[in-house]
Amino acid sequence: MRLPADYHTHTPLCRHATGEPVELAAQAVRVGLEEIGFSDHNPMPRDDFDDWRMQASQLGLYVEKVERARREFPNLIIKLGLEVDYLPGYEDWVRDLAHRYPWDYFIGSVHYVSESWAIDNPMQLSEWKSRDPLEVWTAYFERLTMAAESNLFDIIGHTDLCKKFCFYPKEDCTPLFKRFLEAARRNEVAIELNTAGLRKDCKEIYPSLAIVELAKAAGVAITFGSDAHAPGEVGLNLGEAVTLAKKTGYTQAARFSKRRRELVPI
Ligand SMILES: [Zn+2]
Ligand SMILES: [Zn+2]
Repeated sequence: MRLPADYHTHTPLCRHATGEPVELAAQAVRVGLEEIGFSDHNPMPRDDFDDWRMQASQLGLYVEKVERARREFPNLIIKLGLEVDYLPGYEDWVRDLAHRYPWDYFIGSVHYVSESWAIDNPMQLSEWKSRDPLEVWTAYFERLTMAAESNLFDIIGHTDLCKKFCFYPKEDCTPLFKRFLEAARRNEVAIELNTAGLRKDCKEIYPSLAIVELAKAAGVAITFGSDAHAPGEVGLNLGEAVTLAKKTGYTQAARFSKRRRELVPI
């Protein structure tokens, strides 16, 4: 199987990943990828916002590192992206970041359901225990829908990240998923099939088969990402993600160049 582009990869600038862009690119060539994209965690206006992203002053260095990988691996297509946290109130900051460099795409991700709680952070796991999962999933998908409607992003990251630690609501969340996917379709925002979920407690690709089926029915485009935080994770399990996509009827995936989208066969 020809592997699709891996659009979700990180660098050591975010302080919780290993492997410079040149090392990730070398691994991409080794596993037979034709295209990858870097999408490290965006800086925030305040460098002490949290401790798992690059500092604002490092954005230029990040772009330089990606450009160096491009020079050293001229036969690999390398895209320049960012994984950008969506939090209401930071829209102008994201627009400011967008103007600074010739980005190929922005992945909009919701990690924070409030100004201080990142639902995927293992250090904040106790927060989950004091809340009703439905309340958290609802807040999460409301923000994801806002992200899709914000006009700031090309792709929405790990759509059901809220399942990471297996705090599943008893209630049927289909209406939440549908509302988000309708917003994604209306605004021509793709969703990614992210294989990092397979390496977490939930042991499942983000998003679930049920959500991928709803996405296909809604007419939402897809991309693929390993969410690599180390060279050995580049391209990991993308074959499984393609199998999932095909099972639900997808025959194409989105590619991005300078924030323009085209669909290619998978
Ligand atoms: Zn990360
Ligand atoms: Zn993320």
